[in-house]
Amino acid sequence: MSEVVVVGAGLAGLSVAAHLAPHRAVRVLEQGEAPAAEASAQNAGMVRLLSDDPVERALAWRTHQRLAALDGPESPSRITGGVLALAHDPLHLHGAVAWLAARGATIEDLGSHGQIAVVAPVLEGAPVQRAWHLPEARVADAHQLASGFIATLRAHGGSVSCGTAVRGLHVVEGRCVGVETTAGIVATDHVVLAAGAWSASLAATAGLHRPLFPLRRSLLQTGADALAAAGHPWTWLDDIGLYVRPEGGGWLGSPCDEAVDFPSPGPGSRGPMEELPRALFADKLARFLPRLGALRPATGWTGLRTFAPDRRPLLGPDGDLPGLWWAAGLGGFGVSTALAVGEAVAATLCGEPVDWLDLAAVRPQRRMLSRWLIRPQGWLEGPRLVSGQLPPRMSR
Ligand SMILES: Cc1cc2nc3c(=O)[nH]c(=O)nc-3n(C[C@H](O)[C@H](O)[C@H](O)COP(=O)(O)OP(=O)(O)OC[C@H]3O[C@@H](n4cnc5c(N)ncnc54)[C@H](O)[C@@H]3O)c2cc1C
Repeated sequence: MSEVVVVGAGLAGLSVAAHLAPHRAVRVLEQGEAPAAEASAQNAGMVRLLSDDPVERALAWRTHQRLAALDGPESPSRITGGVLALAHDPLHLHGAVAWLAARGATIEDLGSHGQIAVVAPVLEGAPVQRAWHLPEARVADAHQLASGFIATLRAHGGSVSCGTAVRGLHVVEGRCVGVETTAGIVATDHVVLAAGAWSASLAATAGLHRPLFPLRRSLLQTGADALAAAGHPWTWLDDIGLYVRPEGGGWLGSPCDEAVDFPSPGPGSRGPMEELPRALFADKLARFLPRLGALRPATGWTGLRTFAPDRRPLLGPDGDLPGLWWAAGLGGFGVSTALAVGEAVAATLCGEPVDWLDLAAVRPQRRMLSRWLIRPQGWLEGPRLVSGQLPPRMSR
């Protein structure tokens, strides 16, 4: 049996490779000079369980449990606690709370106990209607996660080839039989497409239309603040689109901005901080986290989160192209779901059952809307419709 070729050494590709390695020979091809250097190096690291989408939630819950099982001196994650607060739409997360509580997650309703500012002092004076506290919520170190996946892969004889760009899928008689790289064709029976923001472009080389849209988002770091103690839970005002977590003596946070932005071919998706998101962040801090209203972000960067129109990932075999598997469209939840994504995709490739996830909901060839919502300024209530057409340069 030929080795499985995984395209992309981000968290998605590396997790799939690590989960496959005990069962199959695996080679990961990465266009960049180092693994996990794109979206997987640009995130805030929060493991978010309380999400309104059931697919994302199932993947995150599975990952959370597996991260907990890895606790120890070398653990890639740590418990920080997390607070999800709502300023306008107090019912927004009720379904998610019920689902998680039924599975045994610890969730405290801070709204009814008046405990909000005790648990998360950063919320003192915030115009919040409801807040949920997850004392077991985590922050994961994406670099450590990736290193762990690579160690597992190598321990089973697998490899990561950096500096090897895949130019297209190699298709013969309606079957994906390899990839075309800068160094020639690599033949294989199984290709796993895990190329993050570049995935739609690679699928187009085989005539597949898979509408995956990279949305650029800003992350900002404030200067030192006495409130930003390591024990403070990360805090997310979900309907406002604003989060902060203590980092380096200050706060790492985002105004949850979204702008469609396709990457150029080749590595390099990290962008500089722009003035507009910086101002949006400062404005949201002043209005919704008054304790931080005087803080000004000092540094920051932007990165790409890649979504399908329904904001669910593409996982498992492509029903329109035998030989092709997917692990893409991990949007803003790729850290939260990394372990489960790899587990699920590896299981489908090995013909094993996955009874904890609705695989139909993540089928790569499922029907997608051609127009869908983004939230340019992060507000849940301020969405904008964008078209589902990929720009011509994405179809090589
Ligand atoms: C600002 C920001 C904040 C975030 N915060 C969080 C958070 O708090 N919690 C959370 O869960 N998630 C968060 N995320 C999301 C998370 O980082 C992503 O979902 C995850 O990293 C996606 O991993 P990936 O492997 O799919 O993509 P990537 O990490 O982008 O990896 C794809 C890889 O494929 C390679 N590749 C592409 N094309 C080719 C080619 N032709 N040939 C060879 N290799 C190729 C790329 O070079 C890249 O290394 C955040 C993301 C951003 C940008």
